[in-house]
Formats: sequence, structure tokens, C-alpha cells
Amino acid sequence: MPTFPTLNPPVRVLMGPGPSDTHPRVLQALAKGTVGHLDPYYLEIMNGLQEMLRMLFRTKNQMTMAISGTGSAGMEATVVNLIEPGDSMIVCVNGVFGGRMLDVAQRAGATVTKVERPWGEVFTPADLKAALASAKPKVVGIVMAETSTGAYQPIEEISKVVHEAGALLLVDAVTALGGVPVEVDGWNIDAIYSGTQKCLSCPPGLSPTSFSPRAMDVIMNRKTKVQSWYLDVSMLANYWGQNRVYHHTGPINMTWGLYEALCLIHEEGLENCFARHLRNHRALKGGLAAIGIKYSAQEGHQLPMLNAVTVPEGVDDAAVRSALLTRFGIEIGAGLGAYNGKVWRIGLMGFGSRPANVLLFLSALEQLLAEQKYRFTSGASVAAANESYGKGA
Ligand SMILES: *Cc1c(COP(=O)(O)O)cnc(C)c1O
Repeated sequence: MPTFPTLNPPVRVLMGPGPSDTHPRVLQALAKGTVGHLDPYYLEIMNGLQEMLRMLFRTKNQMTMAISGTGSAGMEATVVNLIEPGDSMIVCVNGVFGGRMLDVAQRAGATVTKVERPWGEVFTPADLKAALASAKPKVVGIVMAETSTGAYQPIEEISKVVHEAGALLLVDAVTALGGVPVEVDGWNIDAIYSGTQKCLSCPPGLSPTSFSPRAMDVIMNRKTKVQSWYLDVSMLANYWGQNRVYHHTGPINMTWGLYEALCLIHEEGLENCFARHLRNHRALKGGLAAIGIKYSAQEGHQLPMLNAVTVPEGVDDAAVRSALLTRFGIEIGAGLGAYNGKVWRIGLMGFGSRPANVLLFLSALEQLLAEQKYRFTSGASVAAANESYGKGA
């Protein structure tokens, strides 16, 4: 037999746009024994998982489950189940993931109207008025936490105008869920999807998803079959609902992982979990400000879990990121698309949102910035972060 490299992944501190650090308890859960996908024990865990997801999404939606696949599978599932060929859909695009949803909607045969805002900014209800009146959409899709720009989109007001126009609201909560409050029932969201590897402290592999009764009504009364057999929610409902009919084999061990991750969030308490994300964000932001590094997303609409900052003038973007990784084991994200070479994306997601990561990152960054001859007061970022923690804010 030829020799292959031993599987020995390096220890990393994942502070990019995802995947984020997996919690050790989740890693242990993944290693527990595999059972059958119709084993009574597995069904019991599925029930618990659905109930914990409902609590996290703050919904009573019966159809709340984990789709097999990453966040993009959730995106695809929500779009292809609600859209039939020729249906009108508005997609809000202010970054990479809105753009991806637009592509998915077009592939599903929707007549798509694109509403745009500049990268780093968010949508107001007024931005949608004209398009809602002319496109008469069946569905409006929007990204709550645009991971490519760090912009934090308010949903409640948008939801009102979308429903006044008689449309369904589809929300991308891939990076939002677990990091900031998501109120599926309170905000009248009809379809929503997330991903395990952003703020849920899990590896990638599942997409928590929820459909309102109104959305399920639309799905159950389609004229045409859903284009995707794998993601057909009417069939998935037979497995996740009372009937427990085999559809595809559930990813058993990933289910253990997500179950444990949801236990961790509920043990901490949702409000405490969101407060922790905010506390670490403020410390990081204070630290970066102290050495002259500014956020690129609109002030007042910055995500706590994804900190997009402008690479300082004269500093080599790629050299810093590469040294962070090779010398400190820290991964941060590069700018995508229009932000290429101009922006760093620093994630503080789930288990990764902790003071140890903030302080490690700031001190490592200072060392590298000094080597790049960037001028700042040495030690100022760590001092400012500590001051922020000291305020207990
Ligand atoms: C990461 C991400 C996705 C895609 O999820 P994958 O797990 O990479 O498939 C979609 N939307 C947003 C906002 C994301 O951050």
C-alpha cells in the first residue's frame, strides 16, 4: 500500500467567516456510536433537536428541522420549495450571499427582481416599496447577517411591508442564528435557514430550517413537483413529522453534534449567549479602534459575530493573514469580491466568541503590524479591550 499522510489536523483558532471553533463537547458528541436512522433512540433525539431549534428560532412552527447539507442546502431548500417556475421573487442583494440567493432563485425558474444596496449597508422598507409594487412577488428573500460585509439587517420592519404586499418572507440566518436574537414568529418569517458552522459551535454539515404554516400551505398546494427530490419538504415532512417514513439516511453523528451544540446554547441561556457575543465584539472593536483600525459596515448595523474592518493603508493584507495562520494558528477571512484585498473579516462566532480569542488576536495582530511598520501605540489594543471587559458592558 502506498503511504498517505497521517490525519493530524493542525490546531487552529478559527476567527474567520466560518467555519468557527467547534466546542470540545460537540467534538465528543460526534464520536458517539452510530445508530440507525429509524432507531427509537434516534427518533427521540430528533424530537429533542426540533424542540431546541424551535426555542432558538423562537417559533412554534411544526416544520422545524435540520436539512442534510450546509447552509447553502438550506438556501436551496427554502427557495425551491416555495418557488414554482415563473413565480415572481424579489431578492435583496448587498453582498455575496444575497447574490447567491439570486442565482439559486433564477435556477429554480423564478422571475427574479434584484433590489440592491451598496456593500456594508442595509435595506430599509422604503428601499423595497417600488419593487414590491411592480414585481408583485410571491416571495421576498433577504440576508439577516451578510457575512461578506458584516452588515446586520433588521428584519421586523421589512417583514411588515413584505406581508402588506401579500408576499412570503424568506430569511437567510446562516450567520445570525445563535449570535443575535432571531424571532421567527415575532417577525412573521415564513421560511428561514441557518448553518451549523457559524454561531452554533459545530462543524459544517447541517442546515437548521423552519417553515411557517403559511409557507407549508403554499408548499403542499404546489401545481408542480419540487425540482429537487433530495430537498422536497413535503417528503422531508414525512420523516421529521409523525409518520417517520424513510426519505434519505439522516446524518446520524452530525445530529449528535448539533444536538449537543443546542444543549450548550440552552444551558448558557439565549440572552446570555447573545450578550456574550456583544461583549466580545465591543472589546474587539475597542481594541481595533485604539490602533486606528475601522469597521467597514454601516455604523449602527454592524454584526457582533462578524467584524469586517478596513485593512490599514500600507499594510499587506495577504502577508498579515498568512502570518497569523502560520505563526499563531489564527485564521481570519479575506475580503470577498469588491472587498478583495481591502477588508479583513474577523469572526467571533459561537464557541469562538470568547475573551481568550479577542486578546490573542489583538496581540498577534500588533506584532505583525509592527513588522509592517504600521504606526500605532504598542499595547494599546489589548489595553482597550481589557478596559472594555472591565466595564462589564
Ligand atoms: C456561510 C453562509 C452561507 C452558506 O453556507 P455554507 O454552509 O457555506 O453552504 C449562506 N449565507 C450566509 C449569510 C453565510 O454566512
